[in-house]
Amino acid sequence: MRQPGRHFLQIPGPSSVPDRILKAIGQQTIDHRGPDFADVGKAALDGMKTIFKTNQHVFIFPSSGTGAWEAALVNTLSPGDKVLMFETGHFASMWSSMARKIGFTPEVIEGDWRGGAEPDRIEARLRQDTHHEIKAVCVVHNETSTGSVSPIEEIRKAIDAAGHPALLMVDSISGLASIDFRFDEWGVDVCISGSQKGLMLPPGLSFNAVSEKALERAKSVTMPRSYWDWHDMVGPNSNGYFPYTPSTNLLYGLNEAIEMLHEEGLDQVFARHARHGASTRAAVRAWGLEVLCARQGDESGVLTAVLVPTDYSADNFRATTLKHYNISLGNGLSKVADKVFRIGHLGDFNDLMLMATLSGVEMGLEKAGIPHQSGGAQAALDHLKQSTTCPSDTQ
Ligand code: PLP
Repeated sequence: MRQPGRHFLQIPGPSSVPDRILKAIGQQTIDHRGPDFADVGKAALDGMKTIFKTNQHVFIFPSSGTGAWEAALVNTLSPGDKVLMFETGHFASMWSSMARKIGFTPEVIEGDWRGGAEPDRIEARLRQDTHHEIKAVCVVHNETSTGSVSPIEEIRKAIDAAGHPALLMVDSISGLASIDFRFDEWGVDVCISGSQKGLMLPPGLSFNAVSEKALERAKSVTMPRSYWDWHDMVGPNSNGYFPYTPSTNLLYGLNEAIEMLHEEGLDQVFARHARHGASTRAAVRAWGLEVLCARQGDESGVLTAVLVPTDYSADNFRATTLKHYNISLGNGLSKVADKVFRIGHLGDFNDLMLMATLSGVEMGLEKAGIPHQSGGAQAALDHLKQSTTCPSDTQ
């Protein structure tokens, strides 16, 4: 049935694509080996370095983020190698299960899904590994299934404090371009990202930012690889080209997105999402519901996962909000399926869109019969009024 008005895509990615980017993507496809393509490819590769904050290497794949996870593993490890992973939630678990499937040996530090990865536990495990059998530490920066952020800079310090040579690999698929991330300054070796979250593009592009150390390691590891091989990318990339057909139109969109992010300013983008996260948590508290991320300071500006009371169905609630208010909210994944719903506040998003989203949630809670107190949307509005970080406020 036709629903009047616009649909609210408030899942934590894909985020809704701004018109400027859709227009850029709509340009005619050109010869990816012809002379005009070099500028497009170069702009995308150089532009992404400014988003990752690196002067080292960036590779772009025509794939979803999962492909770039695999690229990170197969380029840096040999069959059977041990990797240390921290179970922050569903995506950390999926990454470790991929590592096992393709022939590595993941060791998982168990987590409760209520906060980010804990540097002290990583350091303690690395200190025990006196023979340096662990070849990489893998953590998810923004755990999209729970709305928790891991302290990447502290994890680097923990690895260094243990005097361990493991590579630091970070999944920032939903963190990059939404929350602070500094590849070079924080000493990350490989960062994985995707197009459909903070970069405001449709799904279909993925990224590896790669340190010199990781690229050097890739020369000696023996994992068979072909499509994902970084070394096949280095030569063509240096002139703005790719070893196989790139996603030309998504690269047009990516260049537009990079320009938009710098027009606003990355710090301003991070502050905007942090503020919307805080307003959303104010709403959740006023409803008398619980935010899944329970560790103070780890809460995400990208999304908020909300627990529904025991014996109520989060999926039924989401179906109700979609049917009656034309808004898509994120579902709970694996361990928290049907127990949480997720509110995305990432991408091209402003105060009025947040208020519409939270009003939709509040009306949906009522309609679906979920026990709650009213006044959440009002609490968010009060928070927005008190905290002014929009550029227009200072002009
Ligand atoms: N890692 C995180 C943190 C994610 O949020 C996602 C997707 O939402 C993935 C990995 C998997 O990426 P994709 O679905 O693009 O393959």
